[in-house]
Amino acid sequence: MAEAFVILTSEIQAKSPAISFINSNKGKPLLVADNYTFKLNKATTTTKYWICTIKDCAAKVHTDSNNGLMKSVGNHSHLPEKEKLVVREVREKITFLKKFSRP
Ligand SMILES: [Zn+2]
Repeated sequence: MAEAFVILTSEIQAKSPAISFINSNKGKPLLVADNYTFKLNKATTTTKYWICTIKDCAAKVHTDSNNGLMKSVGNHSHLPEKEKLVVREVREKITFLKKFSRP
């Protein structure tokens, strides 16, 4: 049973990129897919439209109102921003530790 579950999970991941959500330095929501970041461009009651944070890049992502991936549109005109994201995550962890490790 456990083995079958693992295979199923990796098949799903191969078909669609894993997406996650972070907040920008300005507190705006950002979507992360395959190390690319997207900002919220427009939201309707059923669909959220995300556009790449890189200016003039044509890549877009549509999610439903529960933040489930619906569609990814277009291709990126640049490389992923993995290093930038790692730096941001580390900074958040440091802030967290400072805030809660005081006696
Ligand atoms: Zn892009």
